[in-house]
Formats: sequence, C-alpha cells, structure tokens
Amino acid sequence: MILTAENYFSREASEEYLSVSQYKDFIGTLGRPACEELALAKLHEEWDTEKSTALLVGSYVDAHFEGTLNTFKAQNPDIFTKSGDLKAEYKRANEIINRIERDPLFMKYMSGEKQVIMEAELFGAKWKVKLDSYHPDNCIVDLKTMKSLRESEYTKDFGHMNFVRYWGYDLQAAIYQKVVEIKTGKKLPFYIAAASKEKEPDIELIQIEQTLMDEALASVEVNIPKILALKNGEIDPVRCESCDWCKHTKVLTAPIWSSALLGEI
Ligand SMILES: [Zn+2]
Repeated sequence: MILTAENYFSREASEEYLSVSQYKDFIGTLGRPACEELALAKLHEEWDTEKSTALLVGSYVDAHFEGTLNTFKAQNPDIFTKSGDLKAEYKRANEIINRIERDPLFMKYMSGEKQVIMEAELFGAKWKVKLDSYHPDNCIVDLKTMKSLRESEYTKDFGHMNFVRYWGYDLQAAIYQKVVEIKTGKKLPFYIAAASKEKEPDIELIQIEQTLMDEALASVEVNIPKILALKNGEIDPVRCESCDWCKHTKVLTAPIWSSALLGEI
C-alpha cells in the first residue's frame, strides 16, 4: 500500500501501519490510560470518538497553516452559529493564528514542507508519520495548540509534569525523528511550535531533549510485540471499564458495593 494524503487516515492504512496516535490508543500516555478494546474498536471503525471542541479548535489552527481552512470549514458546519458567524471558540482560534503570524521566528519554523508523509519499518512494525513542517537536513516541527503551555499536569504515580510528557509528545518526537532518520539517514532535532488557547495566547518553540526521545523510543520497542499481537487478533484486548466504549458495551452481571465506585484512590 502506498500512502497518500487521501488514504493516510483510512482503515486500510491504519491496519497496515502503526501511527503515533494508534500507539497511544493501545499503550496510553501518562495523562490518558489506554483501553485496548477501544483501540481495536477504533481501528475496526466500530467506534467513532466524538470530536471535542478543544480538539476542533486545534484542527482549525492546523488547517489554517496547512492551507486547507476552507475545506475544514465546509466539513465542519458545527463551527458556525445559526446566523453563520464563527462560534466564539473559533474566533479565539483566529486570534491564536494572528498571534503566531506576528512572530517571525515561529513563522520561520512553520515554513517547512507541509504535511509530509513518510513510512518506515521500526521494531518489526510498519509506521506512518505526517510531518507538519519539515525542513530537510535541518529539523522537524509539529504545531500544537494547547490549553496552556505552562500549567503543570499531575498524575498519581508520576506527580507533576509539563504538557509534553503528560500527552506523550516526547514519544511522538522520538518516532518522527527515527522514521526520518531511517528514510534519509539524518537524525534531526524535533520542535513543538506551540500556542496556547488562553485569553492572551502564549507562543513558544520547544525543543524536545534527546534523552527524553531516547527513553521514549526504548519504551516503544518493548510495547510493539503486544500491539502487533492485538492487531493480528492473537491475544484478547483488555477493557479499561471507564472509557465511553466500555460504558457503551458493558453488560451488568451483578450489583457492586458502594465502596467499589471510586476504585483505588
Ligand atoms: Zn475502555
């Protein structure tokens, strides 16, 4: 199968290739635990995860810099009010875009080749990646629109951390860097071109430390055999019992005690 912009997100492409988002569906991130059964349901197109407004605002900003905003608007009529105005969240998205375009360095990083698709074999799996802004021989840049760039995230097991670790962007950086290295022989630095959705949008160009990428890549290698076995139907997926898919498909077998409601605290 040859990957194109048209078939990149197709079911066929997702079954043949691993992507970073698919990997996160199966393995989870520090901020979002995985549900293996949901990951397979998404893969088999049995479950359509609802696109939240937060996600759509990010997609709106992405679409602008890809040069596909008109298509995006046509495909997402929900972003307009009944009178045909943009909803407040997307007016904010326009403010974020204006803020970004006011910064020459941010724009320089965003001026690479857009939406470059690459595939490579890594740890026995075929991977697909799509680079937001690729500067051959120079660097890889990924655009992200976040709630905040500096707010601390928290998990019970790992304590406080920044959004990069929380959402597994170090892992994305590691995979993108490795795939580009396999295809071109060049090991390039990875940057997140980040903007916040705050009232006054914050902007930053954030380089991901090589040590973080090396650690993340080592964890990927460990997890690949399980993901491939799940995708090939060789082992049964584990249910998380807390995602929307698990709520939708659960069948009660017996009452529970009230003390079980919160799980382990
Ligand atoms: Zn689940």
